Amino acid sequence: MTQISGGTALITGGASGIGLLMGRMLLERGAAQLIVWDASTANIEAARAPLDPLGAVVFDQVDVSDTGAVLAAVSQLEAGGTPVDLLINNAGIVVGKPFLGHEHADIDRALAINTGALMHLTRALLPGMVARGQGHVVNIASAAALVSNPNMSVYAASKWAVTGWSDSLRQEMERAGTGVRVTTVLPYYIDTGMFEGVRSRLIPLLQPQDVAHRILRAVERDAVFLHMPAIVRLLPLLRGLLPTRALDFVLNRIFGVASSMDDFRGRTADRNPNATAPKDP
Ligand code: NAD
Repeated sequence: MTQISGGTALITGGASGIGLLMGRMLLERGAAQLIVWDASTANIEAARAPLDPLGAVVFDQVDVSDTGAVLAAVSQLEAGGTPVDLLINNAGIVVGKPFLGHEHADIDRALAINTGALMHLTRALLPGMVARGQGHVVNIASAAALVSNPNMSVYAASKWAVTGWSDSLRQEMERAGTGVRVTTVLPYYIDTGMFEGVRSRLIPLLQPQDVAHRILRAVERDAVFLHMPAIVRLLPLLRGLLPTRALDFVLNRIFGVASSMDDFRGRTADRNPNATAPKDP
């Protein structure tokens, strides 16, 4: 079982949304040190107030899509003798347009942040974890890894890729008896503002503090997968059992998945990601 208390955790995209909440909860549960990487200096500045009073926090402005910057920041941690016990690969973006509306740069950036960065950072930190015989890597994918709805093509692709890679890594770590755990997280839409404007029929948006709390509980239990809500677990079964058009009917006509992104606006200025940081439930 992974013990949070006394360990060092690194969260990418840790200055907003569920990343910020998980950081707060880790400190409240006795993490010895929290390292927050985020590309946004504004988010970092706003995250200092809720996090600093809770314990030892190091903020670093790192764009995880810049592999050179990631490797340099890892070298700095190693030079400072900071072993990362828990890595939460959380930073992510969504373009939220029809595929034909994507610029080529949108495609490259989404895949670099949502997929490539997780692999490069994990590749850099894993040798230390393996050498110490312990560590935990949490990869935040999405329920979008199990469905393929309009206006999310590149985002869905990036999260499908993460899910495949993450569970392959999990098996490699287990087969080699490394002591390193890997947890893959697949949440439905969360009310953080990242997906502002999204429409959800039948399934309520997930609440950020509940998601953060459940991810940390999954870490403590060394869970392999965390699907939120639990009905998301049924998607692969439905895909296997139903003809594709029947699955389209269930997902799109009944659950409204195909039209869920029609009014997507994404993060807006009035949804300050740091406005609410409730205590660990
Ligand atoms: P958020 O937008 O609130 O926070 C993301 C943070 O990542 C921001 O602080 C942002 O500055 C940072 N970030 C973005 N690009 C970065 C980069 N290149 N380098 C470093 N930091 C970067 O997001 P959230 O809603 O808390 O989502 C967190 C994770 O959960 C993401 O991976 C997202 O894809 C996933 N997820 C979100 C939802 C949802 O509905 N919000 C649903 C399923 C999965």
